[in-house]
Amino acid sequence: MSISKSKPVRDVLLAFARVHILHHASEERIFGVGMMAELGRHGYELGPGTLYPLLQRLQTEGLLAMQTEVVDGKMRKYYTATGRGRTALQAIRPKLAELAEEVLPDGTTPVAGHGKRRAGGR
Ligand SMILES: [Zn+2]
Repeated sequence: MSISKSKPVRDVLLAFARVHILHHASEERIFGVGMMAELGRHGYELGPGTLYPLLQRLQTEGLLAMQTEVVDGKMRKYYTATGRGRTALQAIRPKLAELAEEVLPDGTTPVAGHGKRRAGGR
């Protein structure tokens, strides 16, 4: 699905993309092109015109920290989650689990690990 289908859907998917970014940036340092590929793998077609401002906003909000490094003669911006970013992610996780639990059809449990597992799931 393209992220730019309709404005309401786009807004929600952009928020999901923010969570994806926070998650990955809390596990490793990320950079624009790599993150675009990762989001693409998840079915988010985010162009640089959407992703780069998004990364910048997360940085301005203090959720991501940025360092530059020269890679193949070009300056590359790497982002990692700050303490504040990790705290935000921790606050989001239970909400996400609860939302998925309520909104997804019965028996759909795509994410294992965090939160409670459904007892008699399948
Ligand atoms: Zn991901």
